[in-house]
Amino acid sequence: MLFLIWCQLQVKLASSRGFCFGVEDAIELAEDAVARHGAGRVVALGPVIHNKQVVAKLEQSGLNQSGDLDTIPSDKVVLIRSHGATPQTMQRIHDRGLQVVDATCVLVKRAQDVVRQLYDEGYHVVMIGDPNHPEVRGVIGYAPEVTVIDDDSDLEQMLPYKERLGIVAQTTHSPEHVAKVVAKILVRPYREVKMVNTLCLEVTRRQEAAITLCKEVEVMFVLGGLNSANTREMARLCHVSGCETYHIETWEQFDPSMVCGKSVAGVTAGASTPESVISEFVERLKDI
Ligand code: SF4
Repeated sequence: MLFLIWCQLQVKLASSRGFCFGVEDAIELAEDAVARHGAGRVVALGPVIHNKQVVAKLEQSGLNQSGDLDTIPSDKVVLIRSHGATPQTMQRIHDRGLQVVDATCVLVKRAQDVVRQLYDEGYHVVMIGDPNHPEVRGVIGYAPEVTVIDDDSDLEQMLPYKERLGIVAQTTHSPEHVAKVVAKILVRPYREVKMVNTLCLEVTRRQEAAITLCKEVEVMFVLGGLNSANTREMARLCHVSGCETYHIETWEQFDPSMVCGKSVAGVTAGASTPESVISEFVERLKDI
């Protein structure tokens, strides 16, 4: 006699996940700007956030997100995305007489101010972050010289000897990663090291909730743009915690082999992942 045993996959959601206030504000400002100025008149200097689905939706509504400041016609409105921009870019927009809508997240703005202040106080500014990330490229423009350290392996080559170091971090980094780099800096002969905490608590909360959930599940899905720094960091932390982890953008990338032999799956999402992507994924996962 053949017995078939059917077990439904249990799906648990992280207590903190998805859109942060900075991303919500940026999308709202972008939509408002298009509604006020008309489709095709607002140009963002790059994707407003790191999520393909949201970027495509904004594009459909009439927002151009591939603007080059030097070629934007003077009758357009420039949208500064949540990652912010350098003071040089802001000056150029001003010099060209373009109207501007600034969607820089307040926490990114704070990091920009802190960098300027540390430099004014005489510190050599160090930013722990990805040198290619738009937020980092914008923030370091607020001091004439900033050393960007991606991880502790960069220290030997990158960090000059200066008596006084002032440290900030990319808002989306994890406290664990930043602490590791700072610990390596502290064993060097710098006379004064000042660290200003520029980490985003919205991101830290999501990271903590994901790590907690990893202890209760057999497989973890981290949803969000593959180019989203906070989503990538969350997936890395889940992986390092020992949980089998998949960082995918939407249900389209799901493969049933990912849950083969598993009875409990966890789901979380980066700060730029919309609720619609999360709920669709969860519903379809439950149906497996
Ligand atoms: S993740 Fe944090 S710093 Fe980045 S946009 Fe959201 S609230 Fe702002």
